[in-house]
Amino acid sequence: MSLASLSKPAKPSILVVDDNPENLSVALNFLAEKQFEMAVATDGNSALESAQLVKPQLILLDVMLPDISGFELCKQLKTDPVLSETPIIFMTALDEPQYKVQGFKAGGVDYVTKPLERLELLARVDNHLRIRQQTTTLKTANRNLQQANKTLQLRNRTVTENNRKLQQLVHIDGLTQVGNRRCFDERLNQEWLRLRRERMPLSLILFDIDYFKAYNDRYGHPAGDTCLAQIAQAVKLLLKRPGDLLTRYGGEEFAIILPNVDAAGAIYVADRIQTEIARLEIHHESSSVSNYVTVSQGISTCMPLNNMPPAQILKSADQALYLAKQQGRNQAIHRSQANPETYSASPSSVKADQSEGLG
Ligand code: GH3
Ligand code: MG
Ligand code: MG
Repeated sequence: MSLASLSKPAKPSILVVDDNPENLSVALNFLAEKQFEMAVATDGNSALESAQLVKPQLILLDVMLPDISGFELCKQLKTDPVLSETPIIFMTALDEPQYKVQGFKAGGVDYVTKPLERLELLARVDNHLRIRQQTTTLKTANRNLQQANKTLQLRNRTVTENNRKLQQLVHIDGLTQVGNRRCFDERLNQEWLRLRRERMPLSLILFDIDYFKAYNDRYGHPAGDTCLAQIAQAVKLLLKRPGDLLTRYGGEEFAIILPNVDAAGAIYVADRIQTEIARLEIHHESSSVSNYVTVSQGISTCMPLNNMPPAQILKSADQALYLAKQQGRNQAIHRSQANPETYSASPSSVKADQSEGLG
C-alpha cells in the first residue's frame, strides 16, 4: 500500500440504477457535489453485473426496471456474500406505505421518493454510508478481538502446560522418576491433616538398600544409579491405590506414604516389596546378607492426632528401619503407636517390633 493511499481514504463508490435517463441525471447531479465514485446501470442485469464488479458502498435502486422489479433485484443482491451488507436505498414514485414496506422486506434500508430532493437524498446517502462504515469498523474490531482471544487462549494453554511441567520438575526425582523429598514433605503434611480430620490411619514405609556403598564400590556409580532407578520403578508398580505415594527420600533410601492403610495393610505392602526386590535378582556379590540386592524396611502406622506432628510417624519408621538394619538387614520391621502386639501376625519377612511404643 502506498503512502498516498494510506493518508487519503478511498472515495465511497455508489451505484445508481434507473432506466429513466432524466431521473438518472438528476440523481447524478445531486451526488456530484460529494466526492463519490459513481457507477450507473439502466436495467436489472447490468446493475447486477456492475454491482459485482464495482462492489459499491451503497446502491440507489429504482423500483421499476424494464427487466426485473427493483424489489426482486434487491433480494438477489442480498444473496451475494460480498454485497449482502451493502445498503440499498430505493428510489420510487410509489408513495403508498405498502410499497415502502415491500422495499424493507426485500432488504432495503431506506427509500427516497421521486422527484428526488437534493438535500434529503444527500442526507440519507451520508447517513447510510456512515452506518455502513461503523458496522464495518465494528465487525473488523470484533474479528480482531476474536483473533486476540484465540491467541490468548493458546498462550494460556502453553502457560498451563509449562506450569504442569515445572510442577513435575519440582516434585520428581530426575534419576528414579518417582517423587522427590519435597514431594514427600508436602504430601505427608497434606495427608496428615486430612486423615486427622477423617480419623483414619496413616502408614509410612522407609526402605533403604542394603550395603549400597559396597555395591557402588564393586559395580561402579553408574551401575548404582541404574539399580536405584530399577528398584524405584519396580516398587512403584506394586503400589495400586491412587493415594499411595513412593518418593526418593534421599540417597538410596525411599519413603512410601500409604493413606487410609492400617498396620496389616502396610505390612502386606512391605512384604510384597521384599519379594519383588528378591525377584529382580540384581547381583550384589559384596553384600553380606545375600548374593542379590536387598532392602531393609521400617514401617510405622498411626492415627494422626491433634497434638502429634507429622514428623512423629517419620521418626517411628526411621527407628524401625534402624532396627531392621541392626537385626541383620533384608527384612521389614513394623512399629505402631497404639498396640504393637496387634500386628504380630505379620508375614514371615516382616517382624513386629514390640520393644518400644511411639511418642
Ligand atoms: P546399609 O546397609 O547400612 O544401608 O549400608 P549402605 O552402604 O547402603 O549405606 P551407606 O549410608 O553407608 O551408603 C550409602 C551409599 O549410597 C553411599 C552412596 O554413595 C550411595 N548413593 C547415594 N545416592 C546415590 C546415587 O544417587 N547414586 C549412586 N550410584 N549411589 C548413591
Ligand atoms: Mg543403605
Ligand atoms: Mg542410607
